[in-house]
Amino acid sequence: MPLQLTRPELMCSENFIDGQWRAAVAGARYDVSDPASGAVFASVPDSGAADAADAANAAAAAFGPWRDRSARERAQLIKRWHALILANADDLARLISREQGKPLAEARGEVLYGASYVEWFAEEAVRTYGDMIPEPVRGKKLMVVKEPVGVVAAITPWNFPLAMIARKIAPALAAGCTVVAKPAEDTPLTALALVRLADDAGIPAGVINLVTASRAQTPQVVGAWLADARVRKITFTGSTAVGKSLARDSAATLKKLSLELGGNAPFIVFDDADLDAAVDGLMVSKFRNGGQTCVSPNRVYVQRAVYDAFAAKLVARVAALKVGPASDPASQIGPMINRRALDKIVEHIADALDRGGALLTGGERLHPAGAAGDTFFAPTIVGNAHHAMQLAHEETFGPVVALFPFDDEAQVIALANDTPFGLAAYFYARDIARVWRVADRLETGIVGINEGALAAEVAPFGGVKESGYGREGSRYGLDDYMHTKYLCMGGLT
Ligand code: NAP
Repeated sequence: MPLQLTRPELMCSENFIDGQWRAAVAGARYDVSDPASGAVFASVPDSGAADAADAANAAAAAFGPWRDRSARERAQLIKRWHALILANADDLARLISREQGKPLAEARGEVLYGASYVEWFAEEAVRTYGDMIPEPVRGKKLMVVKEPVGVVAAITPWNFPLAMIARKIAPALAAGCTVVAKPAEDTPLTALALVRLADDAGIPAGVINLVTASRAQTPQVVGAWLADARVRKITFTGSTAVGKSLARDSAATLKKLSLELGGNAPFIVFDDADLDAAVDGLMVSKFRNGGQTCVSPNRVYVQRAVYDAFAAKLVARVAALKVGPASDPASQIGPMINRRALDKIVEHIADALDRGGALLTGGERLHPAGAAGDTFFAPTIVGNAHHAMQLAHEETFGPVVALFPFDDEAQVIALANDTPFGLAAYFYARDIARVWRVADRLETGIVGINEGALAAEVAPFGGVKESGYGREGSRYGLDDYMHTKYLCMGGLT
């Protein structure tokens, strides 16, 4: 089915560098396909090091004038961008659904979610306050000011094609930085449309530059930025393996880094929990984007006394989920992003069943009506899970719930923390002393207490341990894009 946009010009098919739409220097392109059908519906430049260098040159040239604008002027331009994102929300949602696969209503939710960060950082742009320090000796004044770091390279994953890049570019611009960006291979079109809207909003040429690249070419593009001393910061969302390689490879020029990496979120249901609320919370947090989110619960620990009751309630809800292409308004779960994603899910389930897991619902590939692709998977629950299973240690990144029975609080805290990752954790309990004990001891950057929906532009989003460092959103979110400079003025007696 052809993609119908109210504004067809939002379907962009070239790189955006220095305010111009340009083909890759080498002229190469790659195809973009619909994960629901496998059908190719667009193509974009397959960029290389020369395109990345052009983007960095433009961003470096634009940095001084952008930094020197008043915070109020930058804020007004970012606000105009926000207004255009909202005005074009339906088209952006259609692009997200088509290239990423999530149902249209969810894609619209992503547009509003991403836009909320743009609005937040437009407002924060005028609040990058410094400090006066009481002088330790007479005749001096000591001050602290915040300055933009310079050119920022933003590298984003496919699971939230709009929100991930919006929540990097908006704070960078608010701080006074300029940007070079590379979206994921699978989802370049939403990012390109977002950049067109920034251009329409009047954000000056060179302030945002975006190049697209296939998985094979990505190391050339990112490698050029890693080697470029003018690129002062990398902001990355994606896998821990790539995050670690960026940390290693940026050491030569000692760039500032924000790394939003993989998770392996525990979700704990204690015996005093409101079980219906816990099921609701799990449905929201687990099945958003078909389980392809970094904060998706990967290990669900249920206290033995309520295990059977919780499992029965959950099976009823999960078995009723409707799987189908984004084009079907009834779909609640779309396709997985590609065959590799599906193969990982199948492997995790097979391993769990081999090791004594019980299949409570799902467990098979699906071929829903109206979808030609083979990337659909039934929402699945595996019971009697334990820590010898692969799914206890790796993100499954799909619609699979693994239920782990547990006996007591100390045991479940040890199990929950038994992972190198530390992005999000969730728990349901009513005893107030237990609530504080558990919240204190979970080793994650984000904790949901009797709540499954955590992310918001006003709150700091980010992990600890091998889930990375840096925070997106909130009043802490601008710090990642700024230096602290100390000024000491003497001779004042
Ligand atoms: P990924 O493979 O690490 O890719 C993320 C981005 O890095 C893409 O743009 C990718 O480009 C690029 N990339 C891949 N290999 C690279 C290399 N060698 N050098 C430089 N860049 C490279 O991750 P993904 O599979 O797309 O995304 C899923 C992961 O992201 C999961 O682990 C998830 O938990 C994590 N995630 C974390 C957060 C968070 O806030 N903590 C949010 C969302 C997702 P190509 O697409 O061209 O390969």
